[in-house]
Amino acid sequence: MPSEASWLLGNGKAEKVIDELRRLRAGDPPPCRVAGGMTAEPLPVALQAYTLYARANLNDPATWRSVEALVERLRRLLEGVLGPGLDMLPTSGGSESALTGLFIAREATGRDTVVASSAAHASIAKDARILGMRLIEAPVDYDLRLDVDQLRRILRANSGRVAAVVATLGVTDNGALDPVLEAAEVAWENGAVLYVDAAWGGLPLLGRPAARSTILPRGGPALAGIDFHKHVAPPPSGVLLANTPELLGIVEHRAPYMPSGRQRGLPWTRTAAGLAAAVAALEALGQDGLERLAQHLYGLATRMAEALRTAGVPVHSGPWTPLVAFNVGRKAGSVAEALRRRGWVLYPSRLHGVLRYVAKWCHTPSDVEEIVETVVAAAGRGH
Ligand SMILES: *Cc1c(COP(=O)(O)O)cnc(C)c1O
Repeated sequence: MPSEASWLLGNGKAEKVIDELRRLRAGDPPPCRVAGGMTAEPLPVALQAYTLYARANLNDPATWRSVEALVERLRRLLEGVLGPGLDMLPTSGGSESALTGLFIAREATGRDTVVASSAAHASIAKDARILGMRLIEAPVDYDLRLDVDQLRRILRANSGRVAAVVATLGVTDNGALDPVLEAAEVAWENGAVLYVDAAWGGLPLLGRPAARSTILPRGGPALAGIDFHKHVAPPPSGVLLANTPELLGIVEHRAPYMPSGRQRGLPWTRTAAGLAAAVAALEALGQDGLERLAQHLYGLATRMAEALRTAGVPVHSGPWTPLVAFNVGRKAGSVAEALRRRGWVLYPSRLHGVLRYVAKWCHTPSDVEEIVETVVAAAGRGH
């Protein structure tokens, strides 16, 4: 330890500060019990890799050589599932992926309008606003899925102005899947870029061989965002995928003082920790493990939906993704409170009276039973 800096390192305050942070932290709920939130307890292997890379700069792969190797490994892992010809940019998550994706669509098309369904994630409206783009909200059907006929009508009425069509895989309020392939056709017929927001639904869909091809359709310009921190990694950990190299070329910038002379993406300095966590999780799981993880998550959600329906609690159709939206009407507040007393945090939805359960790898069937029992007891009270 250099003695000149010893005043910085050894003045006796560090331990006190850490003790205090530990005390503060102890008041937070364990991520597994936050069963309505979209983040998860990281897989232990992902947390280890995250810690190992906490100090590596993702923006400087010419100096941090292993970071470049990790980018290549993640690309190969995802190509193993989604097929060859992927271009890829590690991001902090869904909102940065969409901000970058909509920016690329704007630059690529020279147009200024985004069309997303009224059930798209709130970050899409925020990203459009930051970019100075106009957002048109397309209507949804009863299950909160993008209505393709209405989408077609909107693109026809705004001919030559739409830069991007957004489709969501895993709608936040009920887990629905937008008809991505149809939305892609409409986008491409009208010269727009398709952006697939698979921030939450993407990882479980990677483990569903029959559904994977919807994540990044081929046949026209498409981008897709997938988050790892929604299921297996600590935040920030996401990726922006492109089905052709020209798209991500748009966010390649000159960086004259950097060793490579170039940098990619919207932020500058950022940690490589989330990238390392994603690589570690996917490599440790393997394709088999990814499919088993998806089965486990869908299994939990299916069990929850069936048990609630059997008990007479109305459940939104699905589950299309490992999320169960159920309706307890005016009891939503007291049901959430009863769950909280048992240590479970479920979140509301923008649908009136609806609570959401989000399956996590660390949940067990008996967790599902405990939640269902608590919901049924609290929803039935006071009738
Ligand atoms: C979580 C989520 C986002 C936002 O992603 P961050 O990783 O929080 O930036 C966007 N869209 C969907 C569908 C999401 O689930």
